Amino acid sequence: MKHSLDILPLSAWIDTNGKPLIIAGPCSAETEDQLVSTAHLLANTGKVNVLRAGIWKPRTRPGEFEGIGSIGLEWLKRAKEETGLLTATEVATAKHVEEALAAGVDVLWVGARSTANPFTVQEIADALQAAGADVPVLVKNPVNPDLSLWIGALERINRAGIKKIAAIHRGFSSFEKTAFRNEPMWDLAIQLKTIAPELPIINDPSHICGNRELIPYVTQKAIDMDMQGLIIESHIDPSVAWTDAKQQVTPAALADLIDSLNVRKPES
Ligand code: PEP
Ligand code: MN
Repeated sequence: MKHSLDILPLSAWIDTNGKPLIIAGPCSAETEDQLVSTAHLLANTGKVNVLRAGIWKPRTRPGEFEGIGSIGLEWLKRAKEETGLLTATEVATAKHVEEALAAGVDVLWVGARSTANPFTVQEIADALQAAGADVPVLVKNPVNPDLSLWIGALERINRAGIKKIAAIHRGFSSFEKTAFRNEPMWDLAIQLKTIAPELPIINDPSHICGNRELIPYVTQKAIDMDMQGLIIESHIDPSVAWTDAKQQVTPAALADLIDSLNVRKPES
């Protein structure tokens, strides 16, 4: 499979000091205090580059918390001002893109359910292009194991003028129940790397595992595969999280996890 991606390396938009890029934060922004307190704890670890928080949440079933909405953009802004962390949120419509850009969100990501829908991805791409945006955009793999959909979404965003792009590997839905919430299907990430070696891949162990226990194993495997970053859900008090409670880790646990990783030193 060929691709037509024109990509800048991660180092063109963030300096991680030769280490993997670490994006961390709650699955959802819930309250101003929850987000800002979590951001402070994460920043204090000295190990996090970007604060993530979903404010528009695509839920598989109706009737659950669908995100705090636009007010969360103000909370992200405050968290950034107080901690110096860059911020990231998920966008799924043109309106989300416009509002997130207007609020100065530093990094946008396209969620797995959106990547599976070319109309949605194109709407996001068109909004980015109309705004003349230059933000990094991270594209999660689609929920289903379809490499073409993943690459197609990256191409749509790239054709809108976004060269700061990366793929997020968050695992794939499968009919069979396994230990994972979403099967990693590492082969697909390897295929993507073979097709587009210059495309940074960021691993999302939280959504692959669906529980805290498996996260260290998946994280180390991603690092061993030379993935360039991690996006990990971290909440000040995971047990009471409004979404994805079982897979979130405290900022202290996140710091321990990162310390425990065996990261190859870059060649000098
Ligand atoms: C998320 O990052 O919280 C999320 C909704 O992830 P995904 O799109 O991978 O399911
Ligand atoms: Mn989540």
